[in-house]
Amino acid sequence: MNYLNKKTIEDIDIAHKKVLLRCDFNVPIIDGKITDDRRITESLKTINYLINNHAKIILCSHLGRPNGVFSEEFSLKPVAKRLSELLATPIAMATDVVGTSAQTLAADLKDGEIMLLENVRFCKEETANDDEFSKKLASLAEVYINDAYGVSHRAHSSTCGVAKYLPSAIGFLMLKELSIMDKAINSPTRPFISILGGAKVSDKIGVIYSLLNKVDILILGGGMAYTFARARGLNIGTSLCEEDKLDIAREVMKEAEKKGVKLLMPVDFVVASAFSNDADFKTVDETEIPNDYMGMDIGPKSVELFSNEIRKADGGTIIWNGPMGVCEFKNFEKGTKALAQVIAETNLVSVIGGGDSAAAVKQMGLSDKMTHISTGGGASLKLLEGVDLPAVVAIQDK
Ligand code: AMP
Repeated sequence: MNYLNKKTIEDIDIAHKKVLLRCDFNVPIIDGKITDDRRITESLKTINYLINNHAKIILCSHLGRPNGVFSEEFSLKPVAKRLSELLATPIAMATDVVGTSAQTLAADLKDGEIMLLENVRFCKEETANDDEFSKKLASLAEVYINDAYGVSHRAHSSTCGVAKYLPSAIGFLMLKELSIMDKAINSPTRPFISILGGAKVSDKIGVIYSLLNKVDILILGGGMAYTFARARGLNIGTSLCEEDKLDIAREVMKEAEKKGVKLLMPVDFVVASAFSNDADFKTVDETEIPNDYMGMDIGPKSVELFSNEIRKADGGTIIWNGPMGVCEFKNFEKGTKALAQVIAETNLVSVIGGGDSAAAVKQMGLSDKMTHISTGGGASLKLLEGVDLPAVVAIQDK
């Protein structure tokens, strides 16, 4: 489908109207404090446009997984506070999603004013895409704008169902994310490299197959590399392995060869005696993983191998999703960080998706050196796989 054919916020009449704006304010919060507000700051362009065009703004988002019940821990109050600081304007916070509080605040909104609904996932109907609930949400507003790229692969009430009942369009952030992914996937400057990491082969198998038809070079690291290593007949000790995916791994390797895609996998690993930052660890070649050790990161030779390939591809395009190792642990973050550094030093068109790879880039202060850091790893994977994003499909065509 052609995502770029969808109505955008600029194609729809919003002046003096109540606009339900679905954002992705799913930010990390520790002890009531937001530790990374990028998803909020990335939404400002759309919100400011609505303010400047005299809309009455009803913001809606999820936060975490409260599983359909109210809990203070998942309240969007910290988001309202941060947003209010960023916009230097008050934000009225509803105490519910579609109840009396939300309805009253929405009814009283004046042009340019902003309110925020409570966490939409406090209602179990949200993730079920319940039709009655979608109708109730829609009844708060006259226009629906979706800017929540990070959840656009989910068919929920606030991302999908509600679009049935209101004139709809996508916001500026959604448009930016879709345009960048479209260009990177469909008309990339070459060579086109993709780096996939993360925990499991099963999560990324569709993406891997799809990428084999698109990329020149595919680099596989992270937990899934061990299933591939096992499929190549190597001993992988106690490393993560999906036994039922060994055949698929073999098939991927064959397909890559057939299609002329250069498939690179780690040649050495940092292995540990247990899944812990405090475990005993050492670096070994791929053939030397001890029986009682597990692979936790790629080793320095792999970093060198991958880095050389990335440097050679300068001027091309790179899409990276997923860490090279268990980067939550200090001792096993080196591979992921080393690749972030190398990508930052090249002139590749670089699109970084996925929470962990994006976090590594941010932590290292390299964000400005990348072409784009996506606010939605899961959604980007779906686009890479060639799967339609239901939340975008639901929006009216131009
Ligand atoms: P994903 O959500 O699929 O991108 O996976 C991210 C997760 O993969 C992170 O939490 C990492 O800890 C995990 N991961 C990366 N490398 C390994 C590994 N060698 N063993 C186990 N888990 C890993």
